[in-house]
Amino acid sequence: MTTFKNFIGGEWVEPSTGDYFENRNPADTTDLVGRFPRSGAEDVQRAVESAQRGFALWRRTPAPARGDVLRRVGDLMVRRKEEIADLMTREMGKPLNETRGDVQEGIDTAFYAATEGRRLFGHTVPSELRSKWAMSFRRPVGVCGIITPFNFPMAIPTWKMFPALLCGNACVFKPAEDVPHTGHVLVEILLEAGLPPEVIQLVHGFGETVGKSIVEHPDVPVISFTGSTETGRIVGETCGRMHKRLSLEMGGKNAQIVLDDADLDLALEGVLWGAFGTTGQRCTATSRLILQKGIHDRFLADLEKRASALRLGDGRKDGTDVGPLIHEASREKVESYVEIGQKEKADLVLGGERPSGKDLQNGHFFQPTIFAGVKAGSRLEQEEIFGPVLSVIRVDSADEAFRINNDVKYGLSSSLYTRDVNLAFRALETLDNGITYINAPTIGAEAHLPFGGVKQTGNGHREGGWEVYEFYSETKVGYLDY
Ligand code: NAD
Repeated sequence: MTTFKNFIGGEWVEPSTGDYFENRNPADTTDLVGRFPRSGAEDVQRAVESAQRGFALWRRTPAPARGDVLRRVGDLMVRRKEEIADLMTREMGKPLNETRGDVQEGIDTAFYAATEGRRLFGHTVPSELRSKWAMSFRRPVGVCGIITPFNFPMAIPTWKMFPALLCGNACVFKPAEDVPHTGHVLVEILLEAGLPPEVIQLVHGFGETVGKSIVEHPDVPVISFTGSTETGRIVGETCGRMHKRLSLEMGGKNAQIVLDDADLDLALEGVLWGAFGTTGQRCTATSRLILQKGIHDRFLADLEKRASALRLGDGRKDGTDVGPLIHEASREKVESYVEIGQKEKADLVLGGERPSGKDLQNGHFFQPTIFAGVKAGSRLEQEEIFGPVLSVIRVDSADEAFRINNDVKYGLSSSLYTRDVNLAFRALETLDNGITYINAPTIGAEAHLPFGGVKQTGNGHREGGWEVYEFYSETKVGYLDY
């Protein structure tokens, strides 16, 4: 068992507190992954001071050269992909095929960011006046506080840090306390690729101490946060008070709509992985299934059959479909929603309990769970559960499905299965989400397209795509008379 360190001031150091926390495998809590620093405000203070020095140096490095570092990062990630996927599954629980995808997203983001080093464009425009040049260009913003959740331990930090670094900023990175090992490896790779040491700081620890200190630090003008809507609200209030640039990516309550004319096999495959992949712990997880009345009963019966055959277990073992929840509190939250569903008189058609298997007793496992007859507006239908619980709602028409899709406070992703191309285009316009998938599940992202949601899911910023480069850079205008 290894004791890990922070990376502050260009070196691996112990926390000022002298204190550590244990990181355990959620599939088998007797398996100790490592001890990680339980850092405090003093560590954040040192990290920010060092990042300011790093920033002064890095912002003067030409953007194409910054891109070259990220290309080497991508190469190193390709080489270490299997090892990272394995350690990520060990500390986070999702099966290897999913953690490989998580690393691949980081690789795609690295190679995409690398090319943007030659495309940080501004504009040169014709001036309204004689003998004058008028132009805009991009400058970095400063030290960026990077605060990330547990569910995509590699993809989400890379979505934030690679564009931030490409734009010439320095980063203070606090990975989620549940997945510190993946965060450690990411920083190792950035350093090996040639990032000047003070440009990246890694401060392990908990949200209420390390996260809060980063958000409240006056010399951190940019905060990029992904996590729950509750935490995001606290972060947002502080950033608003301090006039910080803030990107918030928060919860979801995503629906898959299946209409009578849909390809039902495709839709079945979609909801199975949308709802129960990553044990339902994706911001884009399918937590509502809206079925049109003509196919409702048949589809539900097929889904029940398929979902009941999913194999729970250690994600590093062959044949595992669904891993554990991240920790015990998550499992208890899921159980509380099973109770809520029963009180709301929804019909529990599958699961609802901890599994009985002998090999599952040391992990935070929970059965894939399906409630049918869920009423629009009920708590089960409205609130983010973040676990393997699917609510099925029956509707008469596409219009009713669209209305129910939109009638939640979140707006991350939605999906529609239909063969009617006109309706598909209407859905793209009508559904109030940042992303709508047609004939595909509510999950998945491409590095070169913007990712994020509307309403209580986000605050208008996006990860990925060109949009994220706007977040991490300032547009400055220059006029020149001659
Ligand atoms: P969380 O809110 O508990 O924690 C997220 C991060 O914030 C962690 O690093 C945590 O340590 C830190 N934190 C906690 N309190 C803090 C505080 N007071 N100040 C600063 N930082 C603090 O979220 P989680 O349980 O790790 O992740 C699950 C949530 O993330 C779900 O709600 C999910 O929908 C959301 N999520 C959203 C997206 C998206 O892109 N919209 C992507 C992934 C996850």
